[in-house]
Amino acid sequence: MSEWLFIGGALALVLWFSQRYGWWRKTVPWERPRVLMYHLITPPVPGGSYRGMRVAPAAFERQLQWLARRGFHFATVSELLESRPPPRTVVLTFDDGYADNFTHALPLLQKYRAKATLYLVADREEGSDWSAKKKAHHSTGELAREPKLSDAQVQEMLASGVFELGAHTLTHANLARLDAAAKQHEIAGSKQWLETRFGVPVRSFAYPFGIWDETDRDIVRATGFSTAVTTDAGIDALPLADPLALRRIKVSGKETLLAFRLRLRTGRRGLWK
Ligand SMILES: [Zn+2]
Repeated sequence: MSEWLFIGGALALVLWFSQRYGWWRKTVPWERPRVLMYHLITPPVPGGSYRGMRVAPAAFERQLQWLARRGFHFATVSELLESRPPPRTVVLTFDDGYADNFTHALPLLQKYRAKATLYLVADREEGSDWSAKKKAHHSTGELAREPKLSDAQVQEMLASGVFELGAHTLTHANLARLDAAAKQHEIAGSKQWLETRFGVPVRSFAYPFGIWDETDRDIVRATGFSTAVTTDAGIDALPLADPLALRRIKVSGKETLLAFRLRLRTGRRGLWK
């Protein structure tokens, strides 16, 4: 009886591990650049509901250290189009514009000589709750209380040479809820606003919530963006088939370094994701 319990338990463990880490999947060729998606670089909040979005600074450093030791090449999103990136290229992206990207991420990126792309929401008034525009019940106020990047901090991040600046609409709009004129305002308006405010070219765009359709992509193209990132999980081949709908690998604060490494191999996790 106890043997069967043991075998059953071992089998359950193997299945759980396989589901969670997807170790059996084939490695996507390392010639394809990995585009990683981050939001907050902060320790978890006790009882908080955004554990996945918060990557602790220590965990982020372990990831950078591992990438650097393995000889990964760091690029910005726009650099993917400039020349063919070398094998083992990794593109770090930060969405929204939380202040910890300056206080926690920037020093670590500098320490490991890494680069990144910041998709900044233009409207960063204190109390902005970007998560609420998808589903009202997401609005717990937790993210609204997170400090946002100031213009001065963004300027320093750009002056450091570490960050490329990308757009993420004016207000973190849910594009699916807008008519064509409002979409145009949010997409084209954000490029113009950021370029005027920070005096740098803004060539890349991130669809808020990863929600987009053909109309949105047409506006993104007509606005003059050369690349755009989604939240679809995966690793795109070179040359990029659709630079205006790039897939990314979401880095979750709930995962270990082992999970990070496995996810980098395949772009996906587990059986279904
Ligand atoms: Zn966002």
